[in-house]
Amino acid sequence: MSARTKYVYLFGGARTEGTASMKNLLGGKGANLAEMCRLGITVPSGFTISTEACTAYTEQGRERALKLIEAEVLEGVAFIEQEMDRRFGDAADPLLLSVRSGARASMPGMMDTILNLGLNDEAVRGLAAKAGNERFAWDSYRRFVQMYGDVVMGLKPMSKEDHDPFEVIIDMIKDNRGVKLDTDLDTADLKELVARFKALIRARIGRDFPTDPWQQLRGAVVAVFESWNNDRARVYRELNDIPQSWGTAVNVQAMVFGNLGDSSATGVAFTRDAGTGEDLFNGEFLVNAQGEDVVAGIRTPQQVSLVGSRRWAELALVSEDERRSKYPSLEELMPQIYQQLLHAETALENHFKDMQDLEFTIQQGKLWMLQTRNGKRTGAAMVRIAMEMLQQGMIDEKTALQRVSPDRLNDLLHPIFDPLALKAAKVIARGLPASPGAASGQIVFFADDADEWAKQGKSVILVRQETSPEDLRGISVAQGILTARGGMTSHAAVVARGMGKCCVSGAGAVHVDPKACSMSIGDQTFEEGDWISLNGSTGEVFAGQIKTKAAELSGDFGALMALADRYKRLEVRTNADTPEEAKIARSFGATGIGLCRTEHMFFEGERIVPMREMILADDEAGRRKALARLLPIQRADFEALFREMSGLPVTIRLLDPPLHEFVPHDEAGQREMANEMKVPLGKIRMRVDELQEFNPMLGLRGCRLGIVHPEITEMQARAIFEAALGARAKGAVVNAEIMVPLVGTVREFNAQAAVIRAVAAQVFAERGESIEYMLGTMIETPRAALVADSIGKQAEFFSFGTNDLTQMTMGFSRDDAGRFLPEYLKAGMYEHDPFRSIDQKGVGLLVEMAVKKGKAVRPGIEVGVCGEHGGDPASVAFFHRAGLDYVSCSPFRVPIARLAAAQAAIGDG
Ligand code: PEP
Ligand code: MG
Repeated sequence: MSARTKYVYLFGGARTEGTASMKNLLGGKGANLAEMCRLGITVPSGFTISTEACTAYTEQGRERALKLIEAEVLEGVAFIEQEMDRRFGDAADPLLLSVRSGARASMPGMMDTILNLGLNDEAVRGLAAKAGNERFAWDSYRRFVQMYGDVVMGLKPMSKEDHDPFEVIIDMIKDNRGVKLDTDLDTADLKELVARFKALIRARIGRDFPTDPWQQLRGAVVAVFESWNNDRARVYRELNDIPQSWGTAVNVQAMVFGNLGDSSATGVAFTRDAGTGEDLFNGEFLVNAQGEDVVAGIRTPQQVSLVGSRRWAELALVSEDERRSKYPSLEELMPQIYQQLLHAETALENHFKDMQDLEFTIQQGKLWMLQTRNGKRTGAAMVRIAMEMLQQGMIDEKTALQRVSPDRLNDLLHPIFDPLALKAAKVIARGLPASPGAASGQIVFFADDADEWAKQGKSVILVRQETSPEDLRGISVAQGILTARGGMTSHAAVVARGMGKCCVSGAGAVHVDPKACSMSIGDQTFEEGDWISLNGSTGEVFAGQIKTKAAELSGDFGALMALADRYKRLEVRTNADTPEEAKIARSFGATGIGLCRTEHMFFEGERIVPMREMILADDEAGRRKALARLLPIQRADFEALFREMSGLPVTIRLLDPPLHEFVPHDEAGQREMANEMKVPLGKIRMRVDELQEFNPMLGLRGCRLGIVHPEITEMQARAIFEAALGARAKGAVVNAEIMVPLVGTVREFNAQAAVIRAVAAQVFAERGESIEYMLGTMIETPRAALVADSIGKQAEFFSFGTNDLTQMTMGFSRDDAGRFLPEYLKAGMYEHDPFRSIDQKGVGLLVEMAVKKGKAVRPGIEVGVCGEHGGDPASVAFFHRAGLDYVSCSPFRVPIARLAAAQAAIGDG
């Protein structure tokens, strides 16, 4: 017997086939609809066509895929007919359906939806008669034709300045009638709209709008499959690491109507605040409206709860009287329904044990839940919700730690407006605090301009009337987003929160004129390129640029970090070259410096002059003279670093980069050096030319510098030892680790170690005191990894320089890979940028091997990583498994690495 693949899963009052655990097959929406039915929550009956059907569609094409699911879809529709006691295609009392996408991971607004499916010229009359509301029936019909025309038949605006062709017709009719709102259109207008829409479709596509409901259904299902591959869905997947192969499920469900008069409504709610994480049920709704009206952000929605409504009114500068009469909360307007909703949100949050994002519709006094999913939230909300649910006993410590994506801590680490600068700033408008953060940038009005300007290195604020999912790319590159319309649950707000991007939405005083590339607020006009600033935590909009300041690690964030430290095995150090950086990193919880790139100390101010003098000198004597001037500078720097990091290890690396990076390439600089060194300009020019290399990354750099010019190593070693003694004398507990870069053979290490040890002996003899130190090496050439056992016999620690190790193992130049890597990633040659997340299968193998070899010859050998990968969560998990002792990353990534290290340890246990 060959088991036939099941493609359709029913859900509803009488029979539910899916569960919440079937997300891979039913998508998130379908699986949770089934789960809600199982919990006894009222959901309109329906069925889910599985993601496997979408895969079949992609692989086998439209006809084959439709054939595969045909019989089961027929049964599914029959099931809904029975549940709702209506017939699909019935002219007198038609069953209408909604058709929605729903992938494994939620992709809000990225794919397509069709509502009111099943209507045609006859059925609309039946619907009117049955509902006793002709206007409603024709409004539903015109929405259906419009959505179907757009989504299934492909009638889109021709260019970016163009408006939606259907909206153009609506505006025309509104103008003719002298009305402003869609709700002002009467039945005759709506009938005319339907006729005009159909004529437009015929004229533009050359085909009639389909009248057969079954044909409509097939078209809609295929359109949802297709929408998995639309541009915005692809971009969203790229940004969120969602595999192309997953496909989307299709949910076909009985329609319920929020637009059947004043006892009907539709809304979106969150069981906790998605922006701040506060444990407060909140949401928005519109009376007499369909769901799309809320997320589209065209009408100003009302708040679900009274508390929320009062808070909203305060921000929107609406008086309590006006609020109560024009924008009452659902709690005031429909108290019983509100209680039912409260009951459902509590049940759902308790069941899923996570913050839920709910969609609901109220049809003539009856509440229907349309969706529940784990709500997207800001980094701050992620942390607060995890820690509060832990305190409330809903989840355990490990779950709390796993609830926060390490990368999202970025939101909390990033700067806020400097309070002093903020005092002087002028608020020009207020909107809703849709996604927190502080952003300053130049105004652009189109998403592709945002992309373009950002590529030129500009900071931009994307200003839109309202955003649509097409704006995704622009949102992702902008510093912040400002919209004139829309609520907290508009697409702009949801997407911005998902990305941790600052967003102010629904700033009603802002009038956007995209054609003129300008916006006006009262009598002030702002043009493209003007600077504005947004505070996504308060909803304020400011003129001009405002200074920002660093964030602090406190409250729930601090508690989460302390919890992470209890679970992690890896230590987290930082890459810091200055006491200021070290201080920030220490405040973020770094337990040492894993890499101090000494060369960075030479770039600042006057210091570059003796450095250049040293490089340009043509003999040892000249170099020694310049090095003598550098010595006190280095000593002071190291001493400050040791003092800042008192009690913690400080790993100092000897000079590493190719020397030509330091020399003056411009005439003025060369002239200055000529004067300084009292030699002719021509001679300087010649030395600069001599230093030029074809492949500087593979040239005279790393320990090769110290081997060719041991006096450089001597000076640096002396500076380190004198600084260590100096810092100790001032009360610091010094724990110095000296690191030799770019070693390929143990002989290189030995040669440099001999120089360093000799200097140590000398300094200790001069001072009559000594200090303990460790002498180790970087492992950053493939050869060093291959012979790590031989090196490990001599070196007391290894630190993987995975930047160079990646460069040399893959043969990708760190400086040139940008030319081809984006294309490479698009073509799927590699899954990730190997400079961002370690290539575990290749470069990672060298790391694992070197760790084993090192430990085999020196069991207690300290091993860490100081390449950029030390701050990448996936790489941190890999380094945990590889048995490293620590990762070292830039100061702002320290908390991210701490959490990633805890998650890796939990995953291990
Ligand atoms: C490395 O190569 O990974 C490293 C940390 O050194 P740098 O980036 O300075 O070459
Ligand atoms: Mg390196």
